[in-house]
Amino acid sequence: AKRMRLDKLLANMGFGTRSEIRRAVKQGRVTVNGDAVKDFGMQLDPEEAAVQFDGEEVVYRETIYVMLNKPQGVVSATEDNRDRTVIDLLEPEDRVLQPFPVGRLDKDTEGLLLLTNDGKLAHELLSPKKHVPKTYEALVHGDVGESDRTAFAEGVTLDDGYETMPAQLVIGEKESRGEDGVFSRITLTIHEGKFHQVKRMFEAVGKKVVYLRRISMGPLQLDPALPLGEYRPLTDEELTMLQ
Ligand code: URA
Repeated sequence: AKRMRLDKLLANMGFGTRSEIRRAVKQGRVTVNGDAVKDFGMQLDPEEAAVQFDGEEVVYRETIYVMLNKPQGVVSATEDNRDRTVIDLLEPEDRVLQPFPVGRLDKDTEGLLLLTNDGKLAHELLSPKKHVPKTYEALVHGDVGESDRTAFAEGVTLDDGYETMPAQLVIGEKESRGEDGVFSRITLTIHEGKFHQVKRMFEAVGKKVVYLRRISMGPLQLDPALPLGEYRPLTDEELTMLQ
C-alpha cells in the first residue's frame, strides 16, 4: 500500500498551499473515512482512504490524460508571456497535475490536442521514428486537384528544402466565392510533424490554407461531441489504444 501525508495529498490535488491546507485541517474541514482529523501530517494510503475537503470528495490521481478541442487564439505551450495557453483552459484541479500538450498546433489551428503528464507516452507519440499519422481537415484557397494529390503522395519540397514523406490527400467539396475565387475542403494525413507542415505543403503547391483543424492523432480521434475550448478525460478504451 502507498503511504502519503494528508497535507501532501491535498496540496498535490490542488486544494491550496501547504499552509492553507494545514489551517483548513486544524479548522476541522477535512475528514478521513468520515471523521474530522486535526493532524495534517497523518499518514494515509491515498488510494484507499476516503478523504473529503469541505465535504468535497478528494479523488487521488497521479496521471492525467485529456483530449482538448483546441480553439483558435491559444498557444500549445505551458507558459507564454503574451498569449493564453492550452493549459489556461484547464480547471485548477487538472492543472496541478502539470499536464503539457503532446506536440503543437498553431495558434490559429483548431482541434485534437492530447494533454498529459505522461512523458513516456508523449515521447512515443512524438518520436520521429514512429511516424504516427495525424489527420487534418482544411479549407484551402485554390482549386485543389489530382495533381496535388499525387504530389503529396510522392512528397513535396518545403521552403527550407525539406522533402516531405508520402501523405494522403482526400479532396472534398469546392466552394466558389465570387471575386475571392475557389476554396477546397480537404483532408490530409501526414506521418511526421514539421513546423507548420500542412500549411507549408500547400504553399509548396501554390495554395493557401485558410482554416485548419486536426481530427486524429494515431488511434485517437477528436470526439465530435466535444465543443471548441472544452476537454474531457480519455476513456479507458482510448488510453488502451494509445499505450
Ligand atoms: N500543420 C500546420 O501547418 N499547422 C498545424 O497547426 C498543424 C499542422
